[in-house]
This record gives sequence, C-alpha cells and structure tokens, in this order.
Amino acid sequence: MAYKIIASSCTGCSLCEFECPNAAISMKGDTFVINPKKCTECDGESPVKCDEVCPVPGTCVKA
Ligand code: SF4
Ligand code: SF4
Repeated sequence: MAYKIIASSCTGCSLCEFECPNAAISMKGDTFVINPKKCTECDGESPVKCDEVCPVPGTCVKA
C-alpha cells in the first residue's frame, strides 16, 4: 500500500519531499511523485506526513 500525489493538483512546492520519513517523494517534471516501493503510508501514522504538510487538500491520497 502507498500514497500517491495527484499531479494535476500538485503545485510543486516541495514541502512534502522533506517531510517523508522514507525519502519516497521526488521531483518529476513540474510536480512531485511518490515511489510506491518506498512509501510505507507512514507506518499507520495519521495523518500521514505528506498529506499533513501539503497546502493543497486532496493532493496526497491513498493509491
Ligand atoms: S505516506 Fe508517508 S511514507 Fe508515504 S510518501 Fe507520504 S510521507 Fe512518505
Ligand atoms: S506538498 Fe503538495 S503541492 Fe507541495 S509538492 Fe508535495 S504534493 Fe505537491
């Protein structure tokens, strides 16, 4: 299981990249993407870090 970033909502602000405990988030073009092989869904923490820091609601969602 992993989270994903809705590319059409992502502004590319990069806030989530540094909050991910697993370095699963990286830049791709003008937006950011989550590597599903590295995302652990923050090991059950709620809210997950990427969703918590993202200024655009509904951008970091469960894949
Ligand atoms: S849910 Fe957690 S582990 Fe997965 S990408 Fe977001 S911050 Fe990283
Ligand atoms: S915090 Fe949200 S808007 Fe900013 S780069 Fe990450 S997904 Fe995109």
